[in-house]
Amino acid sequence: MTPTKSIRKKCLDCSYDNSKEITNCPDTECALYTLRLGKKQGDFSPIKAIRIKCLWCMDGNAYEVNLCPSDTCSLWPFRSGKNHRHKGNRDNIRAYEIPQKA
Ligand code: SF4
Ligand code: SF4
Repeated sequence: MTPTKSIRKKCLDCSYDNSKEITNCPDTECALYTLRLGKKQGDFSPIKAIRIKCLWCMDGNAYEVNLCPSDTCSLWPFRSGKNHRHKGNRDNIRAYEIPQKA
């Protein structure tokens, strides 16, 4: 699943699988808002928008985002702001690693 598709899936989950509800979403402050229709548009890239959404979800705590146990959430693979689909990028591989406390 691409980041854009994962956003669309998240919006469907948020709107009880009702496309009209997504189109008419009143939450213009949501980081996914401009990408909710499944098209790349808006101020943020899909990856950046997902990162912002995940930080919002975890009260701004990046460590908790990395530890997020909700792997059924469609945003989960991209929660660290990296796209694992870009093979060979070490940073992207690290995005899947759970950070160790110092
Ligand atoms: S833009 Fe945000 S609030 Fe609106 S449907 Fe998507 S996830 Fe839900
Ligand atoms: S992946 Fe985790 S932190 Fe991100 S939106 Fe889903 S539940 Fe929240």
